[in-house]
Amino acid sequence: MQTQYKALIDEENCIGCGKCIRVCPTDAIVGSKQVLHTILPQYCTSCSNCINTCPTDCITLSTLGVALNEQEELLLTQKKQQRLNHNQLVPPTILFPKSMPISNTTTQKDRKQSIADAIARVKAKKNLAN
Ligand code: SF4
Ligand code: SF4
Repeated sequence: MQTQYKALIDEENCIGCGKCIRVCPTDAIVGSKQVLHTILPQYCTSCSNCINTCPTDCITLSTLGVALNEQEELLLTQKKQQRLNHNQLVPPTILFPKSMPISNTTTQKDRKQSIADAIARVKAKKNLAN
């Protein structure tokens, strides 16, 4: 059987920017602003859009999940298009409220520190690769 590659997020380095969600044609990525994101492998078609757009390089292709047939992919792509069309009609403040609820265990400062740490890890990784 041919190996199926699926996108996988290294959650430790995800800063929750949401860029990957916007470019996924099949709605395979779930998450909300400033919260780490996860990929549902059964919906991922391995198009690599998310990999190319992630600012912290935390998405790779792996061999998880189950492939979709063409009809399923088409359906998901249509749904995605409908969602994007809908999003254009909804003010961004409704999609991404400015004041996100802060959990009891995570403060704004903690989040900023996590983001700074993730960016520092990526920079260090890139320097090692050079
Ligand atoms: S590889 Fe493509 S289909 Fe899979 S999660 Fe990324 S953008 Fe979505
Ligand atoms: S683009 Fe990368 S850092 Fe941003 S939410 Fe997606 S996986 Fe996380």
